[in-house]
Amino acid sequence: MTKTRSLILIVDDNPVNLQVLGAVLESTGFELAFLTQGTGVLEWAREHEPTLVLLDIMMPDMDGIEVCRALKADPVTRNIPVIFVTARTETDEVVKGFEAGAVDYVTKPFNIPELLARVKTHVELRSARLELERYVAELSEANEKLAHMMKHTEELAITDELTGISNRRFFLKRMTDEATRLKRTGRSFCVAIIDIDFFKHVNDEWGHECGDYALRAVTDAIKCSIREQDMIARWGGEEFTLLLPETLLPGAEIITERVRARIEGAPFSYGEGITFSLTVTIGVAQYDESAGIDGSIKRADDALYAGKRQGRNRVVRG
Ligand code: GH3
Ligand code: MG
Ligand code: MG
Repeated sequence: MTKTRSLILIVDDNPVNLQVLGAVLESTGFELAFLTQGTGVLEWAREHEPTLVLLDIMMPDMDGIEVCRALKADPVTRNIPVIFVTARTETDEVVKGFEAGAVDYVTKPFNIPELLARVKTHVELRSARLELERYVAELSEANEKLAHMMKHTEELAITDELTGISNRRFFLKRMTDEATRLKRTGRSFCVAIIDIDFFKHVNDEWGHECGDYALRAVTDAIKCSIREQDMIARWGGEEFTLLLPETLLPGAEIITERVRARIEGAPFSYGEGITFSLTVTIGVAQYDESAGIDGSIKRADDALYAGKRQGRNRVVRG
């Protein structure tokens, strides 16, 4: 595929013909190779992948037609152009040659300018085709890379960097989808906002890195407490949101209570010797069509702040 110099294989059982063809084609600057029988052409061509084959039809052991058929049947040599060398009288043979997959033919005795023109044309065509194949391969590789990068960029745009879960933008998109589905199916859903209690204390006491770790640990704890169809997102800072599809308020309260209890019960440890516990306050609300997306989130948020006022570490319905 990456060959740059053109290589022409000339096959003829008559040494005089080989000599004449060799002398004529020398001027082209192409590299030349010679074989005196049909047997072995396929193997040679598989190994050297010539740019073009000039093939005599009448040969005693294996004639040119058979050789051509064999070359065209092999995936490695299939696209190598074959030009038949034939006596002017052998019209039938020429037809058979084309049927066997040849691209052209030249006649004996040789008309030198015509022979050169045909060989050069087919070498150029073949080279152009190889170039094109290389170009297409490069292009499809570049395309693949681009698609990969685009996918990565899209993922970044909807993912929270610290925790790897969805961000606020994607949460709102999913909530909008869910609101649309509700119109069609009548199946209601709930949203919840989870806020870590006194989180500032973690940063103040053990440093920001420990705070980051705690946010990831809380993410994992929430993930373990929700169902497959539920969605968790980082709303911002130390606040998370949950989208609970096809769920009414009593069900949502059970799920969010499970989240709350799991975090309260989990010991968090960071580095050597730092162990701490955390609690969360959760506001939960059923989606309200008349309030819309923002209004429904506000209901959950208001419930969350009521929970903070009531002493934290609790689930409050909005
Ligand atoms: P409350 O119980 O009222 O919610 O108290 P709180 O301390 O959790 O709330 P406050 O809003 O006073 O503080 C939130 C803290 O969360 C302050 C901020 O530094 C910290 N925080 C927000 N985002 C990040 C983050 O990405 N990493 C770390 N380590 N800390 C964060
Ligand atoms: Mg907060
Ligand atoms: Mg907080």
